[in-house]
Amino acid sequence: MCQIIPTPNFIIPRNSIPTTIPEAGITFVIGNKNKQLLLLDGYKFYEERRYTNTVAWRCTFTGCRARLTLAGRHVLRAQLLHHHPRPAFTVRNGVMVNLPNKK
Ligand SMILES: [Zn+2]
Repeated sequence: MCQIIPTPNFIIPRNSIPTTIPEAGITFVIGNKNKQLLLLDGYKFYEERRYTNTVAWRCTFTGCRARLTLAGRHVLRAQLLHHHPRPAFTVRNGVMVNLPNKK
């Protein structure tokens, strides 16, 4: 359910990125090595590339092709088919903590 909404040409700077985009079900957390991660539907995405007006996020699972593109708070494109189970993690005070994988 990705709506394409006209959006001003801006991207949210790293240090003022919102912690959530509730209308898209997105949460941002701090992951390993202090990098920002995007959480959506129980999956983790890392910032793959930052363009002038958009940011490309990609699933952290090696080989997974799920990805989405954000322009500000708006989801421009999304391919959210994962071929793997959701990773085991929890979030404490905005920081992601990996958990042992469930058997
Ligand atoms: Zn994935």
